[in-house]
Amino acid sequence: MDSDFLVFLAILFGVLPVVFLAMAYGYRCRACGSLSHGFKSDKAGDRDTGNAYLVCRKCGDKQIMGKVESDGSVVWFSGGSGKFDESGGYTGDAGGVFGDGGGGDGGGGGE
Ligand SMILES: [Zn+2]
Repeated sequence: MDSDFLVFLAILFGVLPVVFLAMAYGYRCRACGSLSHGFKSDKAGDRDTGNAYLVCRKCGDKQIMGKVESDGSVVWFSGGSGKFDESGGYTGDAGGVFGDGGGGDGGGGGE
């Protein structure tokens, strides 16, 4: 095993948590400060106003994070897209900040 590779791994695993924390901090709930907000927020859409929200699971605070079309399709400001069905359920390829909308975690990082 090349020792350079081990150094690389050490740096990688040293940096990842910091990046992860920085992202969590950046997307924290503005109302209650929950750091899990960016990872575990519910999605809600209001077709009347055309706003799509991320809803904090801790305090229920809504932040406008995207746009809803009249047919229920959503475009998130962060780049993902998805769709709300008639009952308000959400399906999407990359809804929200971390792409958790489709059920996959997408990150590949260890727990
Ligand atoms: Zn909150």
